[in-house]
Parts: sequence; C-alpha cells; structure tokens
Amino acid sequence: MSGLIDVKSLDEAELRELILSLGMKAFRAEQIFSWLHKGVHSFEEMKNIAKSDRELLLQKCYISFCEIEKKLISEYDGTVKYLFRLCDGEYVESVLMKYHHGYSMCISTQVGCKMGCTFCATGLGGFRRNLTPSEMLAQITEAQIDNNIRISNVVLMGMGEPLDNFENVMKFLSLISSPKGVGIGQRHISVSTCGLVDRILQLADMKPQFTLSVSLHAPNDAIRSKTMPINKRWNVDSLLSACRLYANATRRRISFEYSLIKGVNDTAECAKELAEKLRGMLCHVNLIPVNTVAENGYACSNRQQTELFKNILLQKGIQSTVRRTLGADINASCGQLRMKNIQSINS
Ligand code: SAH
Ligand code: SF4
Repeated sequence: MSGLIDVKSLDEAELRELILSLGMKAFRAEQIFSWLHKGVHSFEEMKNIAKSDRELLLQKCYISFCEIEKKLISEYDGTVKYLFRLCDGEYVESVLMKYHHGYSMCISTQVGCKMGCTFCATGLGGFRRNLTPSEMLAQITEAQIDNNIRISNVVLMGMGEPLDNFENVMKFLSLISSPKGVGIGQRHISVSTCGLVDRILQLADMKPQFTLSVSLHAPNDAIRSKTMPINKRWNVDSLLSACRLYANATRRRISFEYSLIKGVNDTAECAKELAEKLRGMLCHVNLIPVNTVAENGYACSNRQQTELFKNILLQKGIQSTVRRTLGADINASCGQLRMKNIQSINS
C-alpha cells in the first residue's frame, strides 16, 4: 500500500518509535502490538485506543491481513487447508494440522517460488512476490481466530523458499516468538529450504534455535539436478558440507526431507548412497511419499519400497522415519489449490 506503513510488520521497538513520532503516549505501543497480534483487521477494533489516536494511525499506517477465500477440511484426519487472499489480490495456501501435542500450522513465505522443482506445484507456477512479515503472521492469526485455538508449532514449508525471502522471514520469526504476541518460541518452529548454501552458512553464524529442514530428495547430482534446478548452483557435496557445518555450529539436528518418487530416487542403491553421504552427521531423514501433481506424472513409491529404503538407512545408523501424509484427500501439499483457483478464475 503506497506510502503507508505496514504496522503489523514492526517489532515492539519500531512500533514504540512510530507511536512516539506520532505524538502518542508510549504505553499505547504495547496495546497496539497486542491487538495486531490478536489478528484485528482494522484500527476500529482496538477498543482501548482513543479515537483520535486510531485516526492518527489510519492516516499513516495500514494493517495487512488475509481473508479466507477457500477452506478444505480433510475427512480422514481433520487437516484444514486454507487458500488465503492477500490485500493485493494474490493468493497463498496454508495448512493447519492437529497432532497429539497441539496445533501446527504450515505457512507460505512467498507467492509462488523461483526455484522450479519439478515435483512441486508451487515451483511449476513461477514466482510472483515475497510475503511481508505481517502476511506470514496473518496466516497464523487468521487460523487461530477461525478455529478458536492456539497454534503451538509453525513450519515454513508452504509456498515459497523461506531463505530466498531471508530478511522478512527472520523478522517474522522474531515477531511470532514475542510473548506479547502469539508467543511461539523458536524451538517450536521449522524452516525448510531447498538448499541455498550461502544462507545456510549465514544461519550457522547466527546459531538459531529453530529446526532447519533441508529438502534433499536425492543422494547425488545426477538425480538431484533433474528434479531440483538449485542443484546446478550448489551441488549435493557443497550442500551437505554446509549442513555439517551448520549442525556442528548450532548443535541442532538437521531434518532432511526426502520425497520418494517411484523409479527416480527410491532404489536400494539410492538409500545406500544417501546413508554413506550422511554418515556421522547430526541429522534425521524424513521419508515422504511424493504427492502426485497432475502436471509432472510422478508416482509415489509403494509401501514395500519405502520400508526397504528406511531400513537400509536405519541399518547404516541414519535415523529415519516414514511420515504419514496428512490431508491426502484435500491436496494438502502446497501450491495445488492456488493453481486450481487461478485456473478457474482464468477460464
Ligand atoms: N521451498 C522450501 C519449502 C517449501 S516446499 C523447500 O523446498 O524446502 C516444502 C516441502 O514440500 C519441501 O520439502 C518440498 O520438497 C516438498 N514438496 C513439494 N512438492 C511436493 C510433492 N509433490 N510431494 C511431496 N513433497 C513435496
Ligand atoms: Fe520452491 Fe520448495 Fe517447491 Fe522447490 S519444493 S519449487 S523450493 S516451494
């Protein structure tokens, strides 16, 4: 929104500075911060803020929010998939999952993605723009209000490549962990990347507390370069050495994502090669049956092959789990709903 300040992207110190510069009392900053993080869509809803102050805010700032355009609820497991409409009419997807330990939300960090992975519906659709910190936050606050719940875990695994929107993602992580706001600590957050090695090295210096997930999906360059174009910039060896450095620097376990695609990356040889390359690293491998996307024709590995793959990793001392797929009936892997919506709007 031209010329106006995105007030929900400000941290507490920045908000205080703004409030003082508008001639308002300093204590208003905390009240306003709390309203924004409760998920209000307008200044009018801020009941304890004087009308004159609300008018001042309205002249200088805007509140970015998202509206529920579509909502799909899985009949199998209650997973909820949202298609959110942003203030400029773009769409992003988020998925709310219920686990025994509470609610977890998978959010988007960009509209689309530049990385072009061939198995991914988001990648197939190209890139539109980065999300602001407030737009990432809004996905959480909107789902909390819609379901009257508190979300306790966040994964940055929706549409987009989080480390390609680095500053905004870091700002969002600090906003979401504020005890005066949503209050989700870094240990309850996972950030997933397709492997931007320069950013992983930068993070290693910052020693964050969140879990880093790395979408590996192949044990060697021949396979990885076919499905993930980023591999041509940073190959498997350079990615894995950055991961080793990260794990050593942070003493945090890296979570490797590995989607099994039938006949592409699911052979016993692939499992052996993967185990060899991960040997001695503080890590865990999540095996995920690939979600078929209409455009690419990939099929997921069968159960037997998946178990075989896992057992080879385990025998070689690499921790590994087969992830259950949540929301299989609602295309819960991100990017699919947005594409359908765009197609139906255009047709
Ligand atoms: N860009 C980041 C985060 C978003 S993608 C990344 O790539 O890590 C989130 C996860 O979904 C990644 O592990 C990605 O590889 C995976 N993914 C994308 N399309 C998929 C599909 N069709 N089936 C299974 N996993 C998929
Ligand atoms: Fe982008 Fe991740 Fe999809 Fe690759 S898998 S295209 S990095 S969103």
